[in-house]
Amino acid sequence: NFISAVVPPGEIGIKFDDVGALEDVKTMLHELAILPMKRPELFSRGNLLRPCKGILLFGPPGTGKTLLAKALATEAGANFISITGSTLTSKWFGDAEKLTKALFSFASKLAPVIVFVDEVDSLLGARGGGSEHEATRRMRNEFMAAWDGLRSKDSQRILILGATNRPFDLDDAVIRRLPRRIYVDLPDADNRLKILKIFLAKENIEPDFDIRSLANATEGYSGSDLKNLCIAAAYRPVQELLDEEKKGKKHDTAPGLRPLNLDDFIQSK
Ligand code: ATP
Repeated sequence: NFISAVVPPGEIGIKFDDVGALEDVKTMLHELAILPMKRPELFSRGNLLRPCKGILLFGPPGTGKTLLAKALATEAGANFISITGSTLTSKWFGDAEKLTKALFSFASKLAPVIVFVDEVDSLLGARGGGSEHEATRRMRNEFMAAWDGLRSKDSQRILILGATNRPFDLDDAVIRRLPRRIYVDLPDADNRLKILKIFLAKENIEPDFDIRSLANATEGYSGSDLKNLCIAAAYRPVQELLDEEKKGKKHDTAPGLRPLNLDDFIQSK
């Protein structure tokens, strides 16, 4: 139970289409991870094309790295194992060797599998000199040894996908093992529009509301910030209805809610 989630591909319920924008990132993930998992025969000839064992997603918080990892597992038809670097090093550091062995043997059994390591910097961060906890160092070394030890047959079907907001904290030895590094950037206005359209697709919005102007006005917002804005706006009509009920107004069992007005929720970043 140092693993935060294990999900079979059909049960994740998130596809690339649910990830707004980030088209280049999706294309790269398709070439690097989906094709090798779905069509291994294309990557087993010659020496040039080899599936990569590790990919790093890096970029600001809330830009969709975890969401992409889940969608990737769906698209690749792979199982999804998720671990969080800081949990592993804080709660479980006593048993580095046993845990890493268990993780990798579990992964081999579940292959094809994406092993998503969130906050990979806490697990595999730069060596902290004298101040570093001995157990953290041991955990990292064990992890890297197990990773290197993946048999080539397995390496095609087990992908370690790390995510971090702090790529500069990563150890050189780790960077080498994550040869493909993909930047997941904050969305620009066009991409914010794409993301907002996903969140608002099924919402009842005021007819004269201009979603493009909301996209333009939310400079600096991540996908996660945009989602929070939409949730706050969607909650307002519910709150209004509850307030009316408190004042004694009776509603039917399925009361209509006022359409969403999102403009009130924009705060400059
Ligand atoms: P952190 O670095 O803080 O772990 P993250 O990059 O992993 O963040 P997510 O956890 O994937 O970000 O994003 C949080 C939530 O924000 C997602 O569950 C999703 O609802 C929403 N979100 C973020 N980016 C996008 C996007 N491009 N398209 C759709 N939803 C998004």
